[in-house]
Amino acid sequence: MPPEHTTSIADLIRQGERSLSFEFMPPRDEAGAEQLWTAISELEPYAPTFVSVTYGAGGTTRDKTVHITGRIARETSLVPMGHLTCVGHTRAELERILDDYAAAGVHNVLALRGDPKDGPRAEWTPTEGGFTHACELVSLASNHGSFSVGVAAFPGGHPGAESVERDSEVLLEKQRSGAEFAITDMVFRAADYAELVERSSAIGVDIPILPGIMPILNLAQVARMAELSGREIPAEVRARVERYADDPVALRAEGIAMAAELCEKLLADGAPGLHFYTLNRSKATRQIFEALRITV
Ligand code: FAD
Repeated sequence: MPPEHTTSIADLIRQGERSLSFEFMPPRDEAGAEQLWTAISELEPYAPTFVSVTYGAGGTTRDKTVHITGRIARETSLVPMGHLTCVGHTRAELERILDDYAAAGVHNVLALRGDPKDGPRAEWTPTEGGFTHACELVSLASNHGSFSVGVAAFPGGHPGAESVERDSEVLLEKQRSGAEFAITDMVFRAADYAELVERSSAIGVDIPILPGIMPILNLAQVARMAELSGREIPAEVRARVERYADDPVALRAEGIAMAAELCEKLLADGAPGLHFYTLNRSKATRQIFEALRITV
């Protein structure tokens, strides 16, 4: 019998002393699949609270995301969470995907709006018969079977939000719609995360907010990813790694050291845990853990 991962991530975060979680992406090909499953098996011994698998832009990885999270539920000791976006889906389709997740033994979902294919600043056009905002999907998922539902949060605010205050109101709306925890976009400075938490808790957000960690091992790559979510790497952070622009080994070491410092500061400031963007590799996360003296 496959194990049933009905465990709610929200409960696990609340019960645990510190939540650790890892995010993976559906691979493009066979070699990518091998890399993904190697990373999963290398990180499994750290006994993370959960692992999550992204949902491709435009709903392109729908079957893969359900398949991978289902396999994690069946074949590993890990609690999987599947991401789900509103892009290109009607309400009925979203209900069917939630049914597919449940049938695969996946009972935690990250409910997102998703981005238009031209990026987060492009105009959002809802699919006919679908949703306009993530909170509608949160509401659907939390009333559909027994899902524990997480949502996205943004240090510095979502690029499309009118203001950071409005951005926190959106997070409150997600909580009121049934979200039980949130995960942030990449955090570059602990102060940005602290401001998000303070601003949001002041208006009533009390769900755990996990900071997202992406070490800068390749400046151009992380800058491109930040740009894709409508952001920039802060100048002082960029300056620290730019010193090593011509020395990839030293740059990597600095990127790991900076990420470890950031994690320490976030935890010391009261973050309930850390969510690592792994890009389907385990080495950087393991190096950060070594610096933080987190052992298997
Ligand atoms: P929403 O909450 O709908 O917000 C989108 C915009 O609408 C914001 O500007 C917000 O201020 C505004 N808004 C929201 N509600 C209202 C309202 N009621 N009235 C007026 N304005 C409103 N994308 C993927 O495609 N696949 C993934 O797997 C994926 N994983 C992610 C994981 C994390 C941890 C994060 C932080 C992001 C992820 N994304 C993913 C990106 C995400 O889909 C985009 O950032 C998207 O632009 C916003 O999604 P949302 O769920 O916050 O949307």
